Amino acid sequence: MEKRFVYADNSATTRVSDEVLKSMLPYFTEHYGNASSIYKLGRDAQKDIETARGKVAKALNASPSEIFFTSCGSESDNWAIRGVCEKLAPKGKKHIITSVFEHHAILHTCQYMEKHGYEVTYLPINEQGFVNPEDVRNAIREDTAIVSIMYANNEIGTIQPIKEIGAICREKKVIFHTDAVQAVGNVPIDVQEQNIDILSLSGHKIHAQKGIGAIYIKKGISLPNLIFGGAQERNKRAGTENVPAIVGLGTAIEIATSNIPEKTKKVTAMRNRLIDGLLKLPRTRLNGSRENRLAGNCNISIEGVEGESLLLKLDLNGICASSGSACTSGSLDPSHVLLALGLKHEVAHGSLRLSISDETTDEDIDYILEVVPRVVEQLRAMSPLWEKIIKEEK
Ligand SMILES: *Cc1c(COP(=O)(O)O)cnc(C)c1O
Repeated sequence: MEKRFVYADNSATTRVSDEVLKSMLPYFTEHYGNASSIYKLGRDAQKDIETARGKVAKALNASPSEIFFTSCGSESDNWAIRGVCEKLAPKGKKHIITSVFEHHAILHTCQYMEKHGYEVTYLPINEQGFVNPEDVRNAIREDTAIVSIMYANNEIGTIQPIKEIGAICREKKVIFHTDAVQAVGNVPIDVQEQNIDILSLSGHKIHAQKGIGAIYIKKGISLPNLIFGGAQERNKRAGTENVPAIVGLGTAIEIATSNIPEKTKKVTAMRNRLIDGLLKLPRTRLNGSRENRLAGNCNISIEGVEGESLLLKLDLNGICASSGSACTSGSLDPSHVLLALGLKHEVAHGSLRLSISDETTDEDIDYILEVVPRVVEQLRAMSPLWEKIIKEEK
């Protein structure tokens, strides 16, 4: 088969779509006003920010006054945790509940809070990759300030029982935050129906640009600022608005949430072909449940290969993929998510995440299914670890 370029790392970031780019371009050249200025050029920019805010709100079934633009998903996560903690500290609420397999934007913020006198409960996941809502219920205490459980995991794609967790938090009167960066545009989200109080999202995972995010904060919850300065975002988040990025996020979220069922059907079929094809290799396993999984996520462990070597070989063949998460690449620690699933270190090391999108084609899948087995065979042929595995089998 002829060499192709296949981008299969959409959980790390996505291409800016043509429609998104087109909607953004005028804001670099003609509509470059500062949204705080009083002349028409500025007022128009403000109007277009509000239009984008309306689109984000609609995508979540929230009201526009509940949406604030931020610089990224990480900022939204930081703001949610730190904001709620600071707000509720005077009431003596200094306990946080989260899970072991959150994104580092949550985990590292929680570790920071621990250094500042907060106690954090890290709930486990089961071997299928799900948090048990009853564990949330049992962990809630008098002094719990916030529960933060991600909507869908970025490495193994498992979609959490958010509505149930939200209902428990509502019953117990604890604020519920969800990092929905991977879920937005892939799973129907309704913050009201799903009992969500605060939600983080990011542009670059849904075909908008990097460096733009948003947070939904339910009416009635007022968080202290994370960033101080001017009066932007109704005094809650300072910094001159990134108008092109905000407009692009509006376009992206409108498109991403307009056709979720069709997209899911198409992408799931390709994803299943990928999983079934790769599991034909001996000594492989799918990480995380096949049910309630993001349509585009395939994460498998391949014994006897080392993730980094596999990625380099795939890169030489034009395939962009990931092992563990992009944030931990460069470190040799195996992914905290795979370890939380109960994988042994050496099995977690040989993991491959392929995350496809609706831009992926059947030919791309054919190509991956041709290249990966060939490369795995080459790597195993020179792996002392594989030799040992084979010997032990006999
Ligand atoms: C990518 C990602 C983030 C971080 O978003 P940025 O916009 O890159 O800061 C947070 N949480 C999850 C689950 C993600 O996948």
